[in-house]
Amino acid sequence: MAITVVGSVAFDTVETPAGRRERCLAGAATYFSLAASYFTQVRVIAVVGEDFGPEQQAVFDAHKIDIRGIERAPGKSFFWQGSYLENLNEAKTLKTDLNVFAGFEPKIPEAYRDSEFLFLANIDPVLQRRVREATPNAKLVAGDTMNYWIKDHKPALLEVLKGLDILLINDTETRMIAGNSNLVQAARAVLELGPRMLVVKHGEYGATAFFGKSPKNVGATTFRAPALPLEEIIDPTGAGDSFAGGFFGYLASQPELTPGAFRRAMFYGSVMGSFAVERFGTDRLQELSRKEIDERFNIFRELTHLD
Ligand code: AMP
Repeated sequence: MAITVVGSVAFDTVETPAGRRERCLAGAATYFSLAASYFTQVRVIAVVGEDFGPEQQAVFDAHKIDIRGIERAPGKSFFWQGSYLENLNEAKTLKTDLNVFAGFEPKIPEAYRDSEFLFLANIDPVLQRRVREATPNAKLVAGDTMNYWIKDHKPALLEVLKGLDILLINDTETRMIAGNSNLVQAARAVLELGPRMLVVKHGEYGATAFFGKSPKNVGATTFRAPALPLEEIIDPTGAGDSFAGGFFGYLASQPELTPGAFRRAMFYGSVMGSFAVERFGTDRLQELSRKEIDERFNIFRELTHLD
């Protein structure tokens, strides 16, 4: 089943203890769609500037990602600069230039209308909400956000949360939205705001799913998937979006959304996050194979199996 994703398609400059990379192809929707493309058809809605050329387009084409919904506008693409020199688990934002995203009016191509899965990747919540409202028939809607939007755009973000089935954010963001420093209490408070499932990402320590009280949710109310202990992390950027891509891509590939499918999706999310950090930018995500992905899934099995 196809996924439509809206979010940033960007150029990033990042510095990590392993080095520095200037203006690499990035953005939340880019990481998400590359990761999800190994599981299902992905369709992107975004805007890029004149700096997005054939080289960048080829990355999407190589993964059969539909970019008819990526508009080209005069000016520059979204630009983000971040540093992980102080903390590998959390980026310090040095610069955010919205550029062409500032005046973006998302349009959903006719060919995307039958997407049953919708992912609202990190971008201005006003844009997330417009896309959500324009896709009333989506069967499963998930989304992400970040401190930048929680801090200064909270009313718009709260509107987005009302329309989500699943929210994927990190621990700091969960505490920020709820205004509560206890993670479990904060997660419960976030579940009162709309989503029936909350996936809290803990960087190199894995991710925890909290399920709300909906009758659709059967089984345990909390489930945790580990992250893979890695000897070297080259660039943590995009790990969260890649987790989301693996998680949602796997769900979209399943014939039925059973509680077991959600648990396996948490592991596929961790698998894709573990690949993303092995190289700078999207380099590692661009060259994977489904075989490698399933082999790593089995490593996760061995990591956590008791018998
Ligand atoms: P992640 O490391 O998974 O949280 O996401 C990193 C990606 O998010 C980078 O490639 C950035 O281009 C993108 N990004 C950073 N800040 C923002 C923002 N305010 N809105 C949308 N995307 C952003």
